[in-house]
Amino acid sequence: MTSPFARFSCAILVALSSLGVAVQSRGAALAFDYPLDAAPRAAAPKGPAVCRPKQLVQYRGTRVKLEPPSPVFEPFVGRLQRFEETLVEIGTRVYGRAPAAMVHVGTYVCRNVEAEQSHLSEHAFGNAIDVTAFRFPALDSAASKTSRLPRALRSAFTVSVRSYRSTRGAAGERHRRFFLELSQALREEGLFRTAIGPADARHRSHLHLDMAPWSYVRL
Ligand SMILES: [Zn+2]
Repeated sequence: MTSPFARFSCAILVALSSLGVAVQSRGAALAFDYPLDAAPRAAAPKGPAVCRPKQLVQYRGTRVKLEPPSPVFEPFVGRLQRFEETLVEIGTRVYGRAPAAMVHVGTYVCRNVEAEQSHLSEHAFGNAIDVTAFRFPALDSAASKTSRLPRALRSAFTVSVRSYRSTRGAAGERHRRFFLELSQALREEGLFRTAIGPADARHRSHLHLDMAPWSYVRL
């Protein structure tokens, strides 16, 4: 799923990228060094999306399990692995342990950009993921006894993009800190080129992360 801004920019950016011209929408210019940067994004003029994905591999996660395992463009695996490292760091800082799983609702999906059918979605290349939640395991009993976390967060729990803001009390404060740090990392560490979350009305329930040949961040 992509934003109105991304859709608006899409035609120009695709045209430039097909010429091998480095483009930017917001932030720094991109160094065209990703294997899909020159891939045409124009959709078939009529009918359903036509996809010819290359190098799809079934990915299960490395440091953090991907739930469910799903097909992704092989070079996108490296991006997910960097994201997992970031999740481990932030999870350990905020909740005292690494997440066990990252839950998503789509990686490779053959479709055009929603609401504007003239371009293929990055999902059509397996070059995107829609992350909905993170699962954390229970603390072991020794860690639980000394932890300052609220009791609910010492057991196994799931924190979701859709509902973390409505969680009350100390647990809600932790969740908001987790997503704040995650948003900062997505903005500053260049993990993905596109990162869209609840600040966009179409992304209240998930984080859309992709490696399109342009940059757009709205979290
Ligand atoms: Zn998406």
